[in-house]
This record gives sequence, C-alpha cells and structure tokens, in this order.
Amino acid sequence: MPQRIVAGNWKMNGSRALLAAYFAAMEQAWMPLRRCEVLLFPPALLLSEALEPAAALGIGLGVQTVHPEASGAYTGELAAEMAVDAGAQWTLVGHSERRAACGESNEDVAVRAAAALRAGLKPMVCVGEVLTDRRAGRAEDVVREQLEAVLATVGEDLSAGAIAYEPVWAIGTGETASPEVAQAMHAVIRDVLRGAANGLADVPIVYGGSVKPDNAAALFAETDIDGALVGGASLDAAAFLAIIAAMETHGNP
Ligand code: PEP
Repeated sequence: MPQRIVAGNWKMNGSRALLAAYFAAMEQAWMPLRRCEVLLFPPALLLSEALEPAAALGIGLGVQTVHPEASGAYTGELAAEMAVDAGAQWTLVGHSERRAACGESNEDVAVRAAAALRAGLKPMVCVGEVLTDRRAGRAEDVVREQLEAVLATVGEDLSAGAIAYEPVWAIGTGETASPEVAQAMHAVIRDVLRGAANGLADVPIVYGGSVKPDNAAALFAETDIDGALVGGASLDAAAFLAIIAAMETHGNP
C-alpha cells in the first residue's frame, strides 16, 4: 500500500512570526497520526525555524526546489545537499509555477529529481496539464511525458519519492478537479509507474489543486489518491488540520 501523505506548500509566503503562531495552533489541536505522513514545504529561509516544532509533532520538512548541481557559481540557488544539511527530508521538483515562471523543462525537472536522490532527499515530483491541453484532449499525454522524463533519468530510485498530480488549471483558482477526473489521471500515473520498474507501484500519488477542508474527503475516498499537496489552505493551521483529519478519517485504510 502506498504511504498516505498530506503536504503543505507555503510557496513564497510566511514569516518567522507566522510560523510560530502556526505551530502553536497546530500543537493545540494536533491529532496522533494513524494513516498519513504530514509534510511542510516552507520557504527555505524558514526551515531552521521550523525544525524543532515540526519534529515535536512528527511533521517532515522539505524545500520547494533544488538545483541540479551540488555546489558552484549559481547565485541564488539551493543545492540538495544544503537542504539535507539544513534538516530537510523532501523537496518539491517540477512545480508548475517553476515550470512556467523559471522555464523548467521536463529534462530540468528530471535532473533536479536525480540531484535530490543523490543527496538523500526525497523528491515529490509535480506533474499536471494546463487547461488548453485538457481542452484539446492532451492531458494524459502531457502528464505521461512529464513522468516518463523523470523515470528515464532516475528509474527505480523514484521509489523513495512521491508524485503530485496538480492540474495547472486547478492551482490557486478555487477550481478543484472532480474526484472522478483526478482519480482517472491518478490511475494513468499508477499504470505508468507500475510499468516502468519493479517497486514503483506503491509510490504515493497525491493530488494538488485547490484542496480545501470541504473537498478533501471526497478526493481521499478515491482508490489511487494517496493524499494531497495543499497550497493556499496549508497557510491556515485550522484548514490544514481539517484536511489532515479528512485523511485520517476518510482516506482508504
Ligand atoms: C500548489 O501550489 O501546489 C497548490 C496545490 O496550490 P493550491 O492548493 O493553492 O491550489
């Protein structure tokens, strides 16, 4: 069975003050986790501040991207080795905002996933189609190509990581893919993983795109939806806790 994961992506939001208030609120209402692993991807500058309170609750930490190289003249970049040194266990790679704003290609995403794995960081590989692809009936092909580029580079090593299916048209828009639409793409992703190498059938596949407390349970009830990557709602401790609770009570056992 794939591990269930509920992850929060703070993007370029937050401050030390917000982080302190957030963890205070989380501690107040925290529930012992039976079914899922909880991860937080704060801005890298807040990682050291998050280490202690996250460890106290058993929350894993990650960064939002890593550079393919381990060190060098790459001003402003962050190496996977540095993220590990700072206490991260995970990194996002290929988030659609980086694909769009930083021009990261499928190959760029693949080398970042490989760099993460080399450093001992688990990659959560983000894939997803834009609206024009979906309208043109190309959603499945786009997602397959994104995933296959990573698999061609890291192969079975991806068993240490996870996939986040995030239809771009559902990110930050308030428009969620219906549980049926999301499940259909998760089943495609599961098929690709299963066919690629032994040991990949149980790679967690989480859904991302306007996940909120009121739609999480229906998504988590689907067979191949192993959790969520939550953007906006993860900045609100109460909303994030409600999504975690939905996985704990409604997700597949
Ligand atoms: C994300 O950025 O990964 C995301 C899913 O954002 P939101 O939940 O705000 O749509």
